[in-house]
Amino acid sequence: MAERLAGKAAADHLYHKTRERAETFSKENGFSPCLAIVRVGSKPEDLAYERGVRRHAEDAGVALTTRELPEDVTEDGVIDVIHELNSDERVTGILLFLPLPQGMNQKKVVEEIAPDKDVDGATDASRLFTYTGAGAGFAPCTPEAVLVICDEYGISLEGKHVVVIGRSLVVGKPLSMLLLKRNATVTVCHSRTRNLASITKSADILVSAAGRIGMVTGNMVRPGQTVIDVGINFDQDGKMKGDVLFDDVSEIVDAVTPVPGGVGAVTTAVLLSHAVPAV
Ligand code: NAD
Repeated sequence: MAERLAGKAAADHLYHKTRERAETFSKENGFSPCLAIVRVGSKPEDLAYERGVRRHAEDAGVALTTRELPEDVTEDGVIDVIHELNSDERVTGILLFLPLPQGMNQKKVVEEIAPDKDVDGATDASRLFTYTGAGAGFAPCTPEAVLVICDEYGISLEGKHVVVIGRSLVVGKPLSMLLLKRNATVTVCHSRTRNLASITKSADILVSAAGRIGMVTGNMVRPGQTVIDVGINFDQDGKMKGDVLFDDVSEIVDAVTPVPGGVGAVTTAVLLSHAVPAV
């Protein structure tokens, strides 16, 4: 039976480290680091994520403020709020919930976030930083959470073959860059990849970020592997499920992350850690 790589232990350690950094920041600056959430409307998934952040902000020593904007706010209305938060020195991080309502030029709005406050790595400046190390910004939180889990459980990446399923700008692509920085050998698979199972079986570490319930089955893995499930999907009964068929896969591989309670738990901890500037 595979080791269950729960996210809670990794998240708790990161909250502890973030809190220590936040205390140092507060002493040096006379105010606490503060994450500003900008939310247009009240989508249930946004509210659920916000509740999670709120529940843990104190653990990380980060203050939280929310700008809730009406569904019919204009593009300029959102940009005005972002400008106000950019110039407020007490706001150290900005999380803008995406997607924005239809009709808004999302890219234009996102690009207004100051790179040093772009805690979820949404701007081009953050992408440049993630892909080249140049300038200011952050990697998106979820790919970084995958590395935090590996570090927590002593899973070294150096020289390992890591297969990533998914090539989105939010997870798959930035994750492959972060893995390369750790000297892994990375293969990125996607919806047009042929013979997926033969590639996934060749991995030392398999990360799935496809957004397909139970698509990683027992016949795509082999003994000795670590499997990290980034997928957050909901079945017909509204139950959260990962990409990995957990019971099937955990009979075969060495270690696997659960959903819920895996990568998702760590993503919030990474987000709050990004809201504390280096001192
Ligand atoms: P996306 O839809 O933008 O990208 C999915 C990727 O998977 C695409 O590149 C696609 O080519 C690939 N793919 C889809 N079906 C495939 C298949 N059958 N075989 C091979 N590749 C396939 O999704 P995303 O935003 O990258 O998110 C992926 C998953 O991660 C979703 O379940 C999402 O909810 C989850 N997610 C979790 C967190 C977290 O905190 N844990 C954060 C962000 C996203």
